[in-house]
Amino acid sequence: MKKVPFVTKEQLEEIAKVYPTPFHLYDEKGIRANAKALREAFSWNPGYKEYFAVKATPNPFLMEILKEEGCGCDCSSYTELMLSDAVGVNGHDIMFSSNDTPEEDFKLADKLGAIINLDDITHIDFLEKTIGHIPETISCRFNPGGVFLISNGIMDNPGDAKYGMTTEQLSEAFRILKEKGAKVFGIHAFLASNTVTNEYYPVLAKILFEQAVKLKQETGVHIGFINLSGGIGIPYRPEQEQNDIYAIGEGVRRVYEEVLVPAGMGDVAIYTELGRYMTGPYGCLVTKAIHEKHTHKEYVGVDACAVNLMRPAMYGAYHHITVAGKENEPCDHMYDVAGSLCENNDKFAIDRMLPEIEKGDYLVIHDTGAHGFSMGYNYNGKLKSAELLLCKDGGVKLIRRAETPADYFATFDCFEVGKKLI
Ligand SMILES: *Cc1c(COP(=O)(O)O)cnc(C)c1O
Repeated sequence: MKKVPFVTKEQLEEIAKVYPTPFHLYDEKGIRANAKALREAFSWNPGYKEYFAVKATPNPFLMEILKEEGCGCDCSSYTELMLSDAVGVNGHDIMFSSNDTPEEDFKLADKLGAIINLDDITHIDFLEKTIGHIPETISCRFNPGGVFLISNGIMDNPGDAKYGMTTEQLSEAFRILKEKGAKVFGIHAFLASNTVTNEYYPVLAKILFEQAVKLKQETGVHIGFINLSGGIGIPYRPEQEQNDIYAIGEGVRRVYEEVLVPAGMGDVAIYTELGRYMTGPYGCLVTKAIHEKHTHKEYVGVDACAVNLMRPAMYGAYHHITVAGKENEPCDHMYDVAGSLCENNDKFAIDRMLPEIEKGDYLVIHDTGAHGFSMGYNYNGKLKSAELLLCKDGGVKLIRRAETPADYFATFDCFEVGKKLI
C-alpha cells in the first residue's frame, strides 16, 4: 500500500515557521479512530481493556487522549507510573508489567493501586517484603520457552527471552500467592514483537487460555483476567499488509468460546498492552535536508539524527520516507539519508530510492509514533526534539518543547563549570 503522510508540504511549511525542524508530529484523529476500532473489535468481551504501553510514547497529552478513548496505562518504571498518575490514570487502570524491578517501583505501584504483574517467582517474596503484603489482585507473567510458532513458521524465540516464569513456576507461584491471600489472578505473556499477521493474538490466546484452565484446575484460583500484552505490529514497509484488528478480535473470541467458555470461565476479562499498534503509524519525524554530499555514495544530510529516532541505527529497521511535496515524483535517485552523529550507523535510510532531494526539502520519516522519540538519547551532546500534536480541529499544539543546552547541562549542577554553562 502506498504510504502517504498525514500532513502536506504546505502544512509543514506553516508549522516549521513556528517550530523549527526536527520535530515529531502526532495525528490526534488517527490515534482516536484506531483506539475506537480496537475497542470495537474486542467489545464482545465485557471486561476488555487496553492498557497503553506508556514506554512506546510517554507523553501525557497522548496518554490523556488514549484515556478519553477508554485506555488504561501499562507501566514498567517509576517515572512511567508518575506520568500515569499525573494524567489521572491510577488504581486498576494501571498494569505494572515490569522486570528486574527496584523496590521503589513496587512501592509506588502499590501506592497507586496498580495491578502488579510479577515477572518472576522470586518476586513474590521480594514484593511482600517491600510493600508488606500481597495484593488481592495479582498477575504473573508466563514464558512457555521454546519457539513461538504460527502457521507459516517461527515467529519468535521465547526460550531466549529474559521475561516471565516457566510453566512449573507459574503453578507454584499461584499456589503461594493464593496461600498469602491473593483472590483475583491474571496471566500475561508477550511472546512475539511487531507481528504483522492476524494470527498472533489468537495463537497466543490459545496458549494462555489453555494454561489458565489448567491453573484453575490445579490450584483452584479464580482467574479474573488474561493479558495478551503487546506485540501487534504495524506495516513499516509499503509492501506489508496491515493487520485487521476486527479479524484479530474475532480470532480471539473464537478461541475464548472454544477453550474458556466450556471450562466455566466465560467471565474472564481480556486485557491488552499495545504500544506500537496504538500510536506507531500516527506519528512521524519531520526533518529538513541541510546538506548533500557526493563521494563514494550519494548522501543527503538532514537536521535529525539517531537520537531522534534510534530504530534504524539500532535494529536496521526500515522507516519509510516521503519527500514532502514530491509524493508523486518518480523515485529515481538513490540516497543514504544521514544524520550528524559521529557514528556511521546514523542513517535513516541506506540505498533508498527517492525523488531528487534539494536542500531545504522536508523529509517525513513515517511510523515514528511509537518507540521513536521515547528511545531518544543525548549522544554527541545532541538535544531531543519537540513533540507536536496535529489536533483533530486541524490546529497544531506543542506537547513537549525541544531540549535546550540548559537541559543538557542541568545535571552538572554539582560541578562548578556546570553552573557557568547554565
Ligand atoms: C513493550 C511492551 C509492551 C508494548 O509492546 P508493543 O510492541 O509496543 O505493542 C507491552 N507490554 C510489555 C510488558 C512491554 O514490555
